[in-house]
Amino acid sequence: MDNKIAFLDLVTPHLKLEEDLMAVCRDVLRSASFVGGAEVQKFEEQFAHFCNVNRCVGVANGTDAVRFALMAAGVRPGDAVLTVSHTFIATAEAISQAGASPEFIDIDERTYNLDVDKFREYLETQCDVDPLTRRPISRRSGRVITAIVPVHLYGQMADMDPILDLCETYHLVLVEDACQAHGAEYFSQKQNCWRKAGSIGKAAAFSFYPGKNLGACGEAGAVTTNDPALAQRVRQIRDHGQAEKYFHDAEGYNGRLDTMQAGFLRVKLAHLDQWNQARRRVAENYQHLFSDAEGIILPYEPSWSRAVYHLYVIRVNNREKLQAQLKMAGIGSGIHYPVPLHLQKAYRTLHYREGDLPVTERVAREILSLPMFPGLTRAQQESVVEVVLANVGLEAVSRV
Ligand SMILES: *Cc1c(COP(=O)(O)O)cnc(C)c1O
Repeated sequence: MDNKIAFLDLVTPHLKLEEDLMAVCRDVLRSASFVGGAEVQKFEEQFAHFCNVNRCVGVANGTDAVRFALMAAGVRPGDAVLTVSHTFIATAEAISQAGASPEFIDIDERTYNLDVDKFREYLETQCDVDPLTRRPISRRSGRVITAIVPVHLYGQMADMDPILDLCETYHLVLVEDACQAHGAEYFSQKQNCWRKAGSIGKAAAFSFYPGKNLGACGEAGAVTTNDPALAQRVRQIRDHGQAEKYFHDAEGYNGRLDTMQAGFLRVKLAHLDQWNQARRRVAENYQHLFSDAEGIILPYEPSWSRAVYHLYVIRVNNREKLQAQLKMAGIGSGIHYPVPLHLQKAYRTLHYREGDLPVTERVAREILSLPMFPGLTRAQQESVVEVVLANVGLEAVSRV
């Protein structure tokens, strides 16, 4: 069927860049420098510049990036770390694999990111204050809460000003999960300027998994920070804890970035701004094409946000039926994510129950990700919208 509309087209951009990408392969093969080296360093410098930070450390994938950022930012075994349940599991895996325990805060029903009021309420009503360190102790786990990981989900940043304020008041370290938000921006009232994703927290984590806005041709990730000492700790952690070959200050990991992936990323980074702009145009088109639709909740972009639309997520009350109809029409779609982390089997030992995070749970039942990638054409979008409009439930989705 040639009228198929993919959820994501990873083939076309690589065909367009094939010569440059092949040149990277050839250079790396001829130098036989496969791990680390100048190519990695150049990419780190360029990505740091892109994010408007002074340090970037390339790592093996985004999960390593979140974990190493937390460890380097001082999260210790036994700590509790706050995050959202409406995210990819890697956010929580990174927390527990740093030896800490994740605790989940509900999301804002319009942006799908951390709800700042619920975050404040959690600190004020669900925690005691340690008299010595003034840090919050979670009543749920008895653990000291040392950090929070807001996730900039679907390419839109969390509301960072009030999150930063609370982090200051409660002595929490802020690590951004920017794995879906390369190039997204937030207008900070406090600083009266736009700030890039990955430049606000103590450190931030990026993934370059192929389907992300900036994707490698394989696995890759990075930590960004303005703290040179933190960057240095990440460099050690990614390389078996060694400061010097075979001299290990602490145990670390094999979490380095491949030279070839760094080279591919350098080629693609040059196009990222333009791709993000194309994604914003696609989102605008959808917004326009759906403007009179009833029974659908569209993405919401606050005035302080410039989102990069990693995903275009709508909400409907008959999601399964609509997804089946799209499939029959040859249109790809996805659900990000169908089961909130607090209800996953993997986290049953955390003892969360259904009803604990009502907005998260409701959103997880209604969300549907429509085709979204820079090369999606207006005509393709019209076909998608036509199928959606013909199949949305009569009953409008109600607000929580
Ligand atoms: C993709 C992703 C990760 C993990 O990145 P990998 O490179 O797949 O390890 C972490 N957090 C979020 C929000 C992601 O989307």
